[in-house]
Amino acid sequence: MLLTGLRDPDQREAIRVGEDALTYAQLASAAGAVCARVRGAARVAVVAETRLETVVAVVGALAAGVPIVPINPKAGERELEHILTDYAPDLVLDDVDLTQTGDWPTAEPDEAAPAIVVYTSGTTGPPKGVVLPRRALAGNLDALAEAWAWTGDDVVAHGLPLFHVHGLILGTLGPLRLGGGSWHLGRFSSGAAAEALRGRATMLFGVPTMYHRLAADLEADAELASAFSGARLLVSGSAALPAADHARIRAACGQEVVERYGMSETLMNTAIRADGERRPGTVGVPLDGVSVRLVDDAGEELDVWDDETVGEIQVRGNNLFLEYLNRPDATEEAFRDGWFATGDVATRSADGYIRIVGRRATDLIKSGGYKIGAGEIENALNEHAAVAESAVTGEPDDDLGERIVAWVVVEDGHERPSPQELADHVARLLTPHKRPRDVRYLDALPRNAMGKVTKKALRA
Ligand code: ATP
Ligand code: MG
Repeated sequence: MLLTGLRDPDQREAIRVGEDALTYAQLASAAGAVCARVRGAARVAVVAETRLETVVAVVGALAAGVPIVPINPKAGERELEHILTDYAPDLVLDDVDLTQTGDWPTAEPDEAAPAIVVYTSGTTGPPKGVVLPRRALAGNLDALAEAWAWTGDDVVAHGLPLFHVHGLILGTLGPLRLGGGSWHLGRFSSGAAAEALRGRATMLFGVPTMYHRLAADLEADAELASAFSGARLLVSGSAALPAADHARIRAACGQEVVERYGMSETLMNTAIRADGERRPGTVGVPLDGVSVRLVDDAGEELDVWDDETVGEIQVRGNNLFLEYLNRPDATEEAFRDGWFATGDVATRSADGYIRIVGRRATDLIKSGGYKIGAGEIENALNEHAAVAESAVTGEPDDDLGERIVAWVVVEDGHERPSPQELADHVARLLTPHKRPRDVRYLDALPRNAMGKVTKKALRA
């Protein structure tokens, strides 16, 4: 059974969204009504507003064995049209009534059946519909539970959207599989997270932009920091958490944020384990049931464990998606003999810790005969007192092949550091060939809904 927490639904709180909550018994009954309603449909969609109705709709569709796509409620006309034609749902659930009641079904659909279709974040191109089977959800949630000693006694607090893997599958379905609680904070704020952690919440799931804000808030307020000191686990993912934020959070509340690495197509691949060494800047080790390999440009497996040689991450395991919806070309291109090519590049240490360098397409800069990861330079720039945040890209250069370009947001109250000063700073911390040749100043970095910097927007 996928949502094992709903097997014997009782009066414990299952889901909280802001002030509203459902017990396991209430959730099973309301989702049972949705289950009866969608049965017989081929595909359904839900407008995934941050509210209990979204969770009830998803749980009901899962119970009926009808694949469901959660749609971003703020999707613009073009994006909405794309999803509705691409996915063609028989039914769009935007009106779920929590007072309807129904029976929780006893039969469980096949584990290879499609469960959820999530659209990718669209960081590198138009969002693709990723078809996830039930076994990927079940197996991957169990692997995370094992890695984090995550149980039904835990309550996960988060402020993530309910239309991507992170908020929906990890933050919401994870607790429901384990029989624990999910506490959606509504809009994320450090104060709301603190309140949840002072209450029943034991874990916090977030993206780097949230932890960046949290770092500043914790430094300003020791009382706030004390709420985070007692948390069992603070988890970050969806993009790299800059080294500077790791250090600031540890200094302010004594917690080492744990990173995990995953994507829509694979769910989670690696994580820092609760019982493992916390190594900031890395995303930990492969999860149970997931094989990870690094390959070179020619597609040959690299037997490297030196924390230095860069290769593309390819993964295999029960965590993989079935296909991209209506995109046999893209599906075919993504697989190499059963291995899924993530497009992310990384190094691996002697004891198997993976360090993400960036995306092959946008973050690996080939300059002066070197392969340079953008993330390392971004971390170095962020350590400069006058830099609030930064992004690094490569641009064609006659001499170097590619030239390193830094996009910098200046910290409030600081004078704009000159390009020379920033180049010297990077050369001093790293090596001279990693210094930016061009610096461009921005008021803010372009980001998408998941807080990921959209480098193609920078280029344009
Ligand atoms: P699209 O595929 O449409 O371009 P996307 O890849 O951003 O969008 P997602 O599936 O939501 O869509 O995100 C997965 C990507 O997020 C990974 O491929 C990786 O680049 C990045 N990512 C996730 N977790 C981490 C992490 N802890 N550190 C660095 N990068 C991460
Ligand atoms: Mg992707």
